Formats: sequence, C-alpha cells, structure tokens
Amino acid sequence: MKIKVLGSSGAELPGHRPPSYLLNGKILFDAGSLTNILPTKDLLKIEHIFITHTHLDHIMGIPFLADNLMFSKRRHKTKIIGIPPVIEAIRRSVLDGSIWPDFTAIPNTHEAILELKELEPGRSIKIGVYMITPYEVNHPVPAAGYLVEDGRGRRFFYTGDTGPTDATWEQIGGKQIHCLIIDVSFPNRMEEFAIKTGHLTPQLLKKEILKIKSLPEKIYITHPKPQYLKTIKTQLQHLKLRNVGLLRNGSTVIV
Ligand SMILES: [Zn+2]
Ligand SMILES: [Zn+2]
Repeated sequence: MKIKVLGSSGAELPGHRPPSYLLNGKILFDAGSLTNILPTKDLLKIEHIFITHTHLDHIMGIPFLADNLMFSKRRHKTKIIGIPPVIEAIRRSVLDGSIWPDFTAIPNTHEAILELKELEPGRSIKIGVYMITPYEVNHPVPAAGYLVEDGRGRRFFYTGDTGPTDATWEQIGGKQIHCLIIDVSFPNRMEEFAIKTGHLTPQLLKKEILKIKSLPEKIYITHPKPQYLKTIKTQLQHLKLRNVGLLRNGSTVIV
C-alpha cells in the first residue's frame, strides 16, 4: 500500500498542512488538505473519503472538493464515510445549506456530488482489495481511527486524533498492525492539557505502544502542533523506540 501524505500537521500555517492521507490515489483518510494540494484530475480519482471526526482540521477539504467536482466531468459520487455521529454532524452542520450548499442533493439527489455513508465502529467495509474498519478512539467528540488491510494481509492503522485509550487496542486485539500512524500533538510538559483535549505526547505515545499486542514495524506521527515540532522531535528521539518517525508533506509511506 502506498499512502501519500497530503498533510500531517496539527494546524494550518505556511509549510504545515492539516491531516489527509491518500491511499493508492483513490481512498482518502481525513480531508484537512485536499483542494489546496491536488489538481482536479487527481481529485476525480478519489471515490471514498473516510473521516475520523468532525473537527474542522479533518473535514475542511470536503466543501471545496464538492464545489470543484460540480464543474468537472465527474462520473461517480464521492462517498464520505464515518461512524454515525460523525456523518450526522456533517449532515447537520456542514452540508445543511446554511454555511455551504447541500451537495448531497446537488444537482439532484440521484446524481448528487456527495453521498454520506455511516459505518458502525467494528464493522468492515470492502473497497477493492481493501478491508477498512473503524475503531473508536479517545477524543472530546465522537472519533474513530481506521484499520486498513489489503489483499496480502498488510495492515495500517490511522488513529486520527486520540488521547490515551485502552479500548481501541483491546478491540483491534492480536491483529498485526504493520504501520501505525498515531497522534502526537504536544510535548511532554503539556501532558495534562494533551489528556484533556484528547491527544498524546511522546511519553504518552510510549505507554500506548506498550498496550499494542504486536509491535508495529513502523510508527509515524500525525498531528504535531507546529509550535512544538522541534521539542516533539527531540523527545521522540529520547524515547529510543525503533522505527518512529515524523511525516513530511508530499512523502509516501509504503506499507
Ligand atoms: Zn480533533
Ligand atoms: Zn485535529
């Protein structure tokens, strides 16, 4: 599996873009960076967008994507998929016609640009050779990470935003995660704030990794706040964990 990093930051600033990960050009995980990165021909290839939660830095590409697709020679509906409270909030707060047109009914409900689709936590959906399953994580709003397995049994898990969690790892159980993309937003001294806001620090990351039954081959960090990036990088190195790395915009992760 090839995962292109469109954005991996916990904020938007010049040189820092909110999270979006594109699997083999077709399936997107979170929509923090989208129309500002990809040309229309690439946007047209994306058929499914999995959303971890409704915080703006994870969904803000959706309204602009719909607007761009409206004026292209589109052949498919783009499906926005998430756990039920996430889909409900997008329907109620983003595509309700008050801040942006309702693209689930434009130009008409039959040929609409977007389709919203609910996926229960723990239930899998098969898209091509990929089996994709949401697992709830710990964040102040309903949120789920996604476990993705390809036809060869290779797996990655993208947490989206999460604080410390036991339940997520228990539910994933003994399944080997080959590549883990996990939240580390704040430095160690902000542990209390990180826990309160549903995020991790390098030290908290170490504790999470010990909860996973089989150690991932590679661990990548998503969502670091740019203001603390240097400190986070140093503190990650001090963990002395093998195969932990920060992500770079535009790079590709191979699973
Ligand atoms: Zn969040
Ligand atoms: Zn976020």
